Amino acid sequence: MKHCQVQPSHPLRHLIQRLSIGSWFGRAALVWALIASAGAQAGVLHIEGRWAEDGSLQVAYRPPEGVQVLQLTHKPELQVWWARNVAPADACTTLDGSTIRLAMGCRQATIKVTPGLLAANAQYEPAQPVGPGGATSGVLFHLGAYVAPLAHHGLRWVWTPPEGGHVLWQGRWLAHAMTVDLPAEAVNTALAKRDGRQGPWLQHLQADQMVYLGRAPSQAFAQGRLVADERLDDARHGVILETLNRSTTRLTDVYGVGLVGSAGVVVALSDRPGFHGDTDGARMMRLRVPQRATANDSAWLRGFVAHEAVHWWNMGRFSTDHEDPWLHEGHAEWMATLLGLEQGWLTLEDVQAAVSRAVGACVDGTFNQTRAEMANQRGSLTYQCGLTLMLVAQARHHQRHASGEPVAQLATLHQGHPHLSRERLAAWAGQADLRDLLLSSEAPLGPGLQAQLQQLGLAEVRTLSESELSPQDSRTWLAALMRSDCQGVSFYGFDHEVRLAPNEGMQCASWPTVGALQRIEGQPVFGALVSADVALRRACTAGRVYRLGFADGSEQAVACPTSLPPAPRMQTLAIQADMLRRWLVAK
Ligand SMILES: [Zn+2]
Repeated sequence: MKHCQVQPSHPLRHLIQRLSIGSWFGRAALVWALIASAGAQAGVLHIEGRWAEDGSLQVAYRPPEGVQVLQLTHKPELQVWWARNVAPADACTTLDGSTIRLAMGCRQATIKVTPGLLAANAQYEPAQPVGPGGATSGVLFHLGAYVAPLAHHGLRWVWTPPEGGHVLWQGRWLAHAMTVDLPAEAVNTALAKRDGRQGPWLQHLQADQMVYLGRAPSQAFAQGRLVADERLDDARHGVILETLNRSTTRLTDVYGVGLVGSAGVVVALSDRPGFHGDTDGARMMRLRVPQRATANDSAWLRGFVAHEAVHWWNMGRFSTDHEDPWLHEGHAEWMATLLGLEQGWLTLEDVQAAVSRAVGACVDGTFNQTRAEMANQRGSLTYQCGLTLMLVAQARHHQRHASGEPVAQLATLHQGHPHLSRERLAAWAGQADLRDLLLSSEAPLGPGLQAQLQQLGLAEVRTLSESELSPQDSRTWLAALMRSDCQGVSFYGFDHEVRLAPNEGMQCASWPTVGALQRIEGQPVFGALVSADVALRRACTAGRVYRLGFADGSEQAVACPTSLPPAPRMQTLAIQADMLRRWLVAK
């Protein structure tokens, strides 16, 4: 395969060089250059992208006459990635952070984007590689990274697939370029609603969406098109396809409404552990799965795919409160759990274990935190407390309306109320204390949820000895300690250590950014959590530093935080299997 490196040079010379190569890209460049020379349509910013044969994503900006500077609307987290992965593609283009400048006399600026993952848990990847690279690969990208809205001007998006390849956008699978035109009013509306988030204001520009370009293998499924990394093994491919078909069929059934159009799913493999994915408002789904399959992948993968499929309804077909992500995340988690139990990929024991993990982590993690404090963080508590809340809310609803299969019963939450909010959930659950916890309480969330679970007979409090503390307890404690030093928490959790992997742009005062962390003050956090906690407190109250200990035997001294994380709770909530069985398993 011929590779065509794009270097800044005089546009005309560039064009001649490319033509002499005679590659596809040379011909495409000619067509492109001819379009460019025709001049921009007055009052419209054209943003046009294509996948180049060298595996890069090339995005060209053609502003209306008189406009020479474009401002991308990046989130701060994107800056480091952007500086590393994006470069000007020609002499017409200057890139200064998220500002694009056109050289004098130029009508178009072009950037070259080298695909690469942004972060372990990034929402909306700016250019995620799909495939190992080379001719049969492709790229999936979130338009929020590329939009540069110009007030009082229209916006035209054009995405062109490579020869022999496809574009997948808004669930449409096409072998030719796809164009969307937005009027100036839409751009003005978006700018008027613009805030610091990657959220709803982008919808007016259709920039909350993901686009795929490339030649990765694909196949049709009941609701649309599935594109997968060619390295994905048949077993996992089959699991994904089957779960998509089964969950969407069942969700269409219980909601009484299907998707408004065809859907698109893109599966990318990566060398990072764990699964990650998201959906957009235009029925696209991104799934990142680890390169190597492991033994218990199948149930995880099914739950992960079902979770994302639920978002097609709770965030796509219906709407949600973006200020309260634990509602739609918890709803997706809990609905996927109920689907798993109903469809048979989870046993009741699996559900009990999953509920125990989520409830334990949520109650421990929010024992001193209010609902508002929890909702302001985006992390694992979003999912764990979200699931706990949905479980409690449905159990309360069930006390008054004990009818229907659990999946169908949960679907009634949206019946006649397409917007998911705390008010709606409180009304559906119909219980005064839960309503108070959701709407007005300034009391800590954990004890409130614990009381609910106890009243419902779903959980009993049990006192623990140190040896009974779980790896999850250790991870929760370490997360609180990391949060006391860093702007957030980002690590891969294992049962004997955590591997630090801070998100782009995350700052820590004195913690390192990498390392397999196992000990605090010489005490193993996994196995002797209480001793580690006591040693930490001893060091910090004596005004000393404390030591992080890593798997390779190294130690690093770090400064004590102004306030120490809470000591591990020597209590657990034991989920009562009998209650779950009576409620969730069909008689
Ligand atoms: Zn989700």
